[in-house]
Amino acid sequence: MTEAVAEVLFPKEVIARRVRELAGQISRDYEGREPLIVGILNGAFIFMADLIRALDVPCRVDFVRLASYGSESVSSGAIRIGKDLETPIAGRDVLIVEDIVDTGLTLSRLVEVLRERQPASLRVCVFLDKPERRRIPFTADYVGFVIPDRFVVGYGLDFDEKYRFLPDVYVLGRSS
Ligand code: 5GP
Repeated sequence: MTEAVAEVLFPKEVIARRVRELAGQISRDYEGREPLIVGILNGAFIFMADLIRALDVPCRVDFVRLASYGSESVSSGAIRIGKDLETPIAGRDVLIVEDIVDTGLTLSRLVEVLRERQPASLRVCVFLDKPERRRIPFTADYVGFVIPDRFVVGYGLDFDEKYRFLPDVYVLGRSS
């Protein structure tokens, strides 16, 4: 049995419209400021690239890569920073950008780590939100789409490093 991209959940036109709406909301909230946009590698890079180009405020960018401890998956909650920010964030307005919030463990841990560095403000923008899967409470400040408990790929999201390049978002199905 192999996996297959089965059904389009969000076509690229729908994604583009929603990204513009989010960028409008973020631009209003950060008017007169220059936020540091922090992307979580690898999944957030496509969403982040589209989002920042639709902003009406200037911004700077940096990236983190997270790694799990030992052989456990990231969603065990035991995350560490694999690649850290190159920018000091004390006193800065920081907006974390992530592809998806699922159990909530990754983002709540990253928020905790970055908060210790005393940014002026710290918010989170996610492209997708799967609230049914939460293991700890976590609410993102900006959410592209709320989705049911299905595994999705495309628009930066992968399965085993495949499908990130797809311009639409698909629910991953199975075929024999
Ligand atoms: P968490 O469970 O800590 O909230 O999310 C951890 C990570 O799980 C996400 O950043 C993402 O990489 C991955 N993930 C969760 N749900 C999905 C999904 O439906 N599709 C893909 N491609 N990755 C997912």
